[in-house]
Amino acid sequence: MPEFTYLIVGGGMAADSAARGIRTVDAKGSIAIITSESNPPYNRPPLSKALWKGEPIDNIWRSTPESNVTIRLRRTVVSLDVKSKTVADDEGISHSFQ
Ligand SMILES: Cc1cc2nc3c(=O)[nH]c(=O)nc-3n(C[C@H](O)[C@H](O)[C@H](O)COP(=O)(O)OP(=O)(O)OC[C@H]3O[C@@H](n4cnc5c(N)ncnc54)[C@H](O)[C@@H]3O)c2cc1C
Repeated sequence: MPEFTYLIVGGGMAADSAARGIRTVDAKGSIAIITSESNPPYNRPPLSKALWKGEPIDNIWRSTPESNVTIRLRRTVVSLDVKSKTVADDEGISHSFQ
């Protein structure tokens, strides 16, 4: 079973911010993001604004992996067991957190 110190469900801007926040207080603890999305966290607002004005698409990425975070893409969390500190994804894989 994959084990992480911190487990974040979802891969949006909040997930990226949470990972960065954790890194400011814990440089070593392992962090995983499990997300249904096909891409790592990106900034949403430019999709309906700046990109229309010619902003390069590469500017949307939030560079979460640079924070030393494991990102599991295309996985939907289907259950959470707070007592055993585990979540299960739609591939039947359980992940534990501390
Ligand atoms: C095109 C666009 C333009 C926007 N422009 C603005 C703006 O100009 N100003 C503004 O204030 N806001 C704007 N917003 C809204 C803003 O982007 C959202 O408020 C913000 O993205 C919310 O971030 P979040 O991480 O909380 O949620 P979300 O971005 O909704 O992320 C949720 C994440 O959780 C994942 N997820 C959910 N359930 C599961 C599960 N069971 N298992 C695994 N993963 C799961 C989803 O796949 C997703 O990655 C815009 C949104 C869009 C789409």
